[in-house]
Amino acid sequence: TSPAGSVRDYIRTIPDFPHAGIQFRDVTTLFADPRGFRMAVDQMVHPYAGTRIDKVAGLEARGFIMGGAIAHQLAVGFVPIRKAGKLPGAVLSERYTLEYGEAEMQIHDDAIQPGERILLVDDLLATGGTAEAGIRLIERLGGEIAGCTFIIDLPDLGGRKRLEKLGMSVDALCA
Ligand code: IMP
Repeated sequence: TSPAGSVRDYIRTIPDFPHAGIQFRDVTTLFADPRGFRMAVDQMVHPYAGTRIDKVAGLEARGFIMGGAIAHQLAVGFVPIRKAGKLPGAVLSERYTLEYGEAEMQIHDDAIQPGERILLVDDLLATGGTAEAGIRLIERLGGEIAGCTFIIDLPDLGGRKRLEKLGMSVDALCA
C-alpha cells in the first residue's frame, strides 16, 4: 500500500447508530482528511476520466460532498437528488421502501436533458433502494446512467446485485 494508506483506513464504524444493532460507517473522518478525501475523489473519478459524462448526480446528503468534487474534477455540472420537499422548483418524485417505512427522493424536472450521460454518486450502497430511486428519476428525464459509484458497498445487503440487475455498472472503493 502507498504511504497514505487506503480509503478504508479513513472510515470509522460507529456501533448502534442510528439504532441499536446498526454498525454505521462514518465517512466524515474521510472527508476531513486532506489525503483521504482527495484519494477517494481521485479513485472515484478514475474509471470515468476520458469517457463521456455530461453531468454528475449526487444523492442527499453525502453524495453531494463526493459528487460536487467529482463533477469539478470531470469539469461537468452537478445535479442534486434530494429528500422530498427540499428542491424549490418543479420536481419528479420516486417513493421507495426502507427497512422501516417509506422514503421519497426528488429531482428538478429540468435538471437533465434527454440523452445526457449521468454519473450517479453516493457515499454508501446498502440495499440499493436509494440508488434505484435516483436511477428511476434520471431515466424518467431521459438521462442515461453511465455508472453508479460509491465509496462503500455493503455486499451482504444486496445493493450491487439489485443495481446490476437493472443493467447498471457499479463501482465502489471498499466493502
Ligand atoms: P440503501 O438505500 O439501503 O442502499 O441505503 C443507502 C443510503 O443510506 C445512502 O444514501 C447512505 O448514505 C445511507 N446509509 C445507509 N447505511 C449507512 C451507513 O452505515 N453509513 C452511511 N450512510 C449509510
